[in-house]
Amino acid sequence: MMSPRYKPWHLLPFAWKYARLRLTRRPVLVHFEVTMRCNASCSFCDYWKTPAEEKARELTSFVDAARAFDPMMITFTGGEPTLRRDLEQIIAEVARATPICYLTMITHGGMLSIERAQTLWDAGLDQFSISLDYLDERHDAARRIPGLAAKILRTVAVMRDRGMNVRFNTVIKDDNLDDIMPIVHRAEALGAGVNLSVYTDFKNGNADRLIRADQFARVQALVDELLAFKRRRRGVITNSDWYLRQLPRYLRREMREPCRSGETTIHIDPTGQVRRCPDFPADKHWRAYDGYAPIDCNACYYACRGEAQAPLTLSRFQDLLA
Ligand code: SF4
Ligand code: SF4
Repeated sequence: MMSPRYKPWHLLPFAWKYARLRLTRRPVLVHFEVTMRCNASCSFCDYWKTPAEEKARELTSFVDAARAFDPMMITFTGGEPTLRRDLEQIIAEVARATPICYLTMITHGGMLSIERAQTLWDAGLDQFSISLDYLDERHDAARRIPGLAAKILRTVAVMRDRGMNVRFNTVIKDDNLDDIMPIVHRAEALGAGVNLSVYTDFKNGNADRLIRADQFARVQALVDELLAFKRRRRGVITNSDWYLRQLPRYLRREMREPCRSGETTIHIDPTGQVRRCPDFPADKHWRAYDGYAPIDCNACYYACRGEAQAPLTLSRFQDLLA
């Protein structure tokens, strides 16, 4: 899903940048958490409980951090980033400061009108990542936003017509195992992508949607379906084959390798403090970042954690080229 801002020859400067960042042990992907506030109220996340007064502490610009890290990819996230009325300005400044850098935004999509999507795109975004765990009202109930799934699907159709890149971020849970392939097929029909992660209760202890042991065989069958889909049609599912193959292992609690979060990916919170991953506390200002050591934690297996450990295989190049 190459952004129209970049042409195939840009793979060269991106590859050069990747090599430089890895050699100097600097993050490849930086998440700017532009606000922790959120107007959804998911039962598995407590960000929406962030007091409104926190708005006064939010940075008005992330451009210094963008320049200092100059990573390959920057994600604007939250909380819900579209709550910020100055988001276009924040993105435009960062886009000007980091010419070879892929800019994405993670959103629940509830406030993403066509007009807002267009102004964010024009500000310099290369991709929208919209959460979508079900294609029907179950998604509305999970986020507690009436009509959300239908609105997302309507809006994305127009966004794609206008040439905007869209990816669905989909979390595999105990009650949507039969919905994953339909989401993949809907994304394909829309010309969008899908990135899958697996549910964890680490955010706030809500274990309601954890995949149960009696579902492990169904998960393995799903992984086989996803890999078969990728063999036929690359470029829709954006996870690496390797990551997908690890999911059953993670669920069976066989994963022993340390987590390398904070090494190639970091999160910078709304006040400029850095943390190794979204579920660990911030512990220093971004100017003091000097890397994080691998940690013995297997609390999650989000794609951002798993993909950072994925080996550079032929299938990853095939994904990239697709
Ligand atoms: S998961 Fe996302 S949409 Fe839900 S409350 Fe947390 S930040 Fe908001
Ligand atoms: S496994 Fe890694 S990314 Fe996940 S919560 Fe633990 S430290 Fe964070």
